[in-house]
Amino acid sequence: MALKLHNTLSRKKELFVSSEKNKVKMYVCGPTVYNYISIGNARPVIVFNMVRNYLKYLGYEVLFVQNITDIEDKIINKANEEGVDYKIITERYIKAFLEDLNTLEIDSIDEIPFATGMINEIIDIITRIINNDYGYVAGGNVYFDVFKDKNYGKLSGQKIDEMKDSDDGEFEKRNKIDFALWKKAKPGEPSWDSPWGRGRPGWHIECSAMAYKYLGFGFDIHGGGIDLIFPHHENEIAQSEAAFPEKGNFVKYWMHNGMIEVRERKMSKSDGLQDDWILKNLLKKFSANVIKFYILSTHYRSPLEFSGEKLEESQKAFEKITNTVRNIQFIINKKDAEERESRINNNLKSAEDKRKLKYLLKSIKADFISVMDDDFNSAGAIGILFEAIKTVNGIIQAADFIYDKEFIHDLNNFYNEITGLYKIFGIDPAGAVKKDLIEHAAETGSIEASQIDKLIQERNEARSIKDFKKSDEIRSRLLKAGIILEDRKDGTIWKIQK
Ligand SMILES: [Zn+2]
Repeated sequence: MALKLHNTLSRKKELFVSSEKNKVKMYVCGPTVYNYISIGNARPVIVFNMVRNYLKYLGYEVLFVQNITDIEDKIINKANEEGVDYKIITERYIKAFLEDLNTLEIDSIDEIPFATGMINEIIDIITRIINNDYGYVAGGNVYFDVFKDKNYGKLSGQKIDEMKDSDDGEFEKRNKIDFALWKKAKPGEPSWDSPWGRGRPGWHIECSAMAYKYLGFGFDIHGGGIDLIFPHHENEIAQSEAAFPEKGNFVKYWMHNGMIEVRERKMSKSDGLQDDWILKNLLKKFSANVIKFYILSTHYRSPLEFSGEKLEESQKAFEKITNTVRNIQFIINKKDAEERESRINNNLKSAEDKRKLKYLLKSIKADFISVMDDDFNSAGAIGILFEAIKTVNGIIQAADFIYDKEFIHDLNNFYNEITGLYKIFGIDPAGAVKKDLIEHAAETGSIEASQIDKLIQERNEARSIKDFKKSDEIRSRLLKAGIILEDRKDGTIWKIQK
């Protein structure tokens, strides 16, 4: 098996072959910063984080760029509504977006360029388009002449005469569907100098300029929501291929995630943003793990139903995973041989269960890869991991099970394998278990939660210089607070004394 992905351009699943060996360059359209992002905007963020992580898992080096649109009509309108400078608006929502990424624990994006930081590159690419006779200047605006581009419509599969008119300026365009590359500034609007007078870039052109700057031409993957196929991505292709007609295809593979729907209605910005769709609000009720689990439990190209019940179902499923992870941790960390011995009762079922675990260990990775290789089928992969978790929990919960050395060894390997595979989705059950423990410690007031890790670090430092008096003092101080330390090969872990 090898990775196949659905290319919007060919409308088919294609074998993935990167342009450069072992290296993938990908670009995803980011938010326009005039409001908080919704769960709908969070879907591409979570989906393409998964895409990037899976490519890394397959051994590719990945360069991942996602832009922020910080100049656009919607931003100017919002600034006018509030009677403030547009920068007040963009700074507020850039900060909020970066905070959302942080809360979602997504740090896979290598470059986050801003449109306003790209004005020179944008002017350069517009100049090329005009020089190649695909663009024209009209009344201080620059438009793209759609009729000059024989390939226009190749991504969305539309014919020019069936297309909706572009709403970029009503006058002076040659054709109604021509779209703006550069917009003349109205009095009081933010603007930059250009060969065509003061103005600002149209929305589509920034992505052509940024993608070219960071990833060059003919890069591997361009992603975004299906609502961006037309006109945004169609226009990106038209602009880029008009600026560099000798270079072939702007992008090799186009990937588009489906929309999130509320009662079979698409969640779109034109509906206005309802409070319970705002990601920031949802993250107060549900953890980042749960939100990612919910989004990735459906294939990225399918529509995804949004409701509180769906999120609660995901929360319950995720709790089952963390419970199993906690149980596994308990067993593999257990050094109390006496207790382990007391549970020894060698029987046939134990032998069978041990074989079951060995089989899982052997098959889980291949099973996972085979579904993920089929167009990033995270829904199928999450199902495989969930079945494995259920099987292993069944084994270790059985009262008469033997914890012998070999089993513990296999269980440890299973733990490492499964927590590693969940990380591809940005899901971290082990981290969630640790967080629960810290919260528990904070609630019971046994010790300041933030202090535990600090004390462990201090103790490790003391041990490294053989200051055992100090290290013992720290251990007993923590013990008094109900925290038990265990020194393992890979570091010190702690848990709460029950
Ligand atoms: Zn874009």
